[in-house]
Amino acid sequence: MATGPQEKVAAIIVAAGRGTRAGASDVPKQFRPVGGEIMLRRTLALFAGAPEVALVQTVIHADDDARYRTAANGFDLLPPVHGGATRQASVRAGLEALVAHAPDIVLIHDAARPFASAALVGRAIIAARQTGAAIPAIAVTDTIKRVDDSGHVGETLERGALRAVQTPQAFAFQSLLAAHRNAAAQGREDFTDDAALVEWAGIRVATFAGEPGNIKITSPEDFMRAEAMSMAQLGDVRTGNGIDVHAFGPGDHVIIAGIRIPHSQALTGHSDADVGLHALTDALLGALADGDIGSHFPPSDPQWRGASSDRFLAFAVERVAARGGRISHLDLTIVCETPKIGPHRDAMRASIARIAGIDIGRVAVKATTSERLGFTGRGEGIAAYASATVRLSWGET
Ligand code: MG
Repeated sequence: MATGPQEKVAAIIVAAGRGTRAGASDVPKQFRPVGGEIMLRRTLALFAGAPEVALVQTVIHADDDARYRTAANGFDLLPPVHGGATRQASVRAGLEALVAHAPDIVLIHDAARPFASAALVGRAIIAARQTGAAIPAIAVTDTIKRVDDSGHVGETLERGALRAVQTPQAFAFQSLLAAHRNAAAQGREDFTDDAALVEWAGIRVATFAGEPGNIKITSPEDFMRAEAMSMAQLGDVRTGNGIDVHAFGPGDHVIIAGIRIPHSQALTGHSDADVGLHALTDALLGALADGDIGSHFPPSDPQWRGASSDRFLAFAVERVAARGGRISHLDLTIVCETPKIGPHRDAMRASIARIAGIDIGRVAVKATTSERLGFTGRGEGIAAYASATVRLSWGET
């Protein structure tokens, strides 16, 4: 086959399985969370973010259209197609959907392997360019025995020649398409992976280095291991704090943590003077060591005058996401004599949780007076103190 970086690479993500072996839930495993994120979404993020992959075609079950929309939200992907009764039929549906796009290389990947790395995807593409058909393989460390129907050992296999194979499997598009069409025409629907199908078609299949961490998540034990792996990936826990103060001025309400509270005075200053969201924004930026609210949104810039402060917090939340991080917790303390914060506490928590895209259980809002001491005690303004806990991947600087 031709070689060169101009080749168009497509990926088919096989996500049509009904597999619920992984637990009692009736949600198929690829739509269940791993480390707080839908498994399929993790897999899609890898391929949608791979610069060499031009087209991502997901194959889903017709019952999963709504689940898919949630999992794929925000990614630039081809519209999903519905799969067939077998994995093989599902891959074929994905291949037929790609015909119109004429890719040169196609990667076939199982949604249930969300821990494949970008490096593995890169190796798959190079191997397909060089060989036309290649699969990731890892050495087998357990001794493998053939066992008969009665559970007795029949044979000990020579371990040195054995490999466990994974996905993404990578092929010249036209040869995999032809092999799938021929197999279907001959009534063969029993191939469990694409390599077996092209072997049947008489094509030699090469191997390249797989990854021990590229596990296929099937059983409840796999889910537990996956949780541990995702937490280890995001094991770099960072905390930041933020402080903000705004003075009272004329007005009839204040806005704190996005909640409008009727009051005999208003807060003055930058934007809508939401001390709560400003402190939280700085806490998140602090956890990222990424400047402060003033460096990203200069008070001298007239476009922020009167602006709703949820955009500042949303900006910081996006900066966390862009680093591949997660917000574990946000904690906000408001210091003032008036207005009373307690009646608005849960509304504030819900507001912050919505902007941050996290569960309300990860958001604390507390209030205190300063016993009539200092500027808050004299009723000259409101102060807010926030802390943010963020998990980043090891390897971040
Ligand atoms: Mg401020």
